[in-house]
Amino acid sequence: MSRPEWQQQPCPEWCTVIHTDGDHPDDRSHRDDGVVVPVIARRRYYEGDALVERIEAVQIVLGRWQRDGEEQSWRFLGIDGGGELELSEASFVRLADTMRRLVA
Ligand SMILES: [Zn+2]
Repeated sequence: MSRPEWQQQPCPEWCTVIHTDGDHPDDRSHRDDGVVVPVIARRRYYEGDALVERIEAVQIVLGRWQRDGEEQSWRFLGIDGGGELELSEASFVRLADTMRRLVA
């Protein structure tokens, strides 16, 4: 399969996107399928003046992302119903190492 005209670099080995000439400029990036990690989380937030605490099932999505033409790839960390972060590889490794230490 030939590359679309806009694509400046070959896909990284982890990219699972089928790129086409019609891809919107915002979608011209390399991504993997991501990994969904179901977790149990405690969330606290205000409802009006009341602080509410709720324990609920949440999905965390982890994956890789790279804008076409850029050298740097990012590790995506998204929280279902919450925010998201794009971390440098070094930051992602540091986070993983720290999480491993906290488990011990
Ligand atoms: Zn790609």
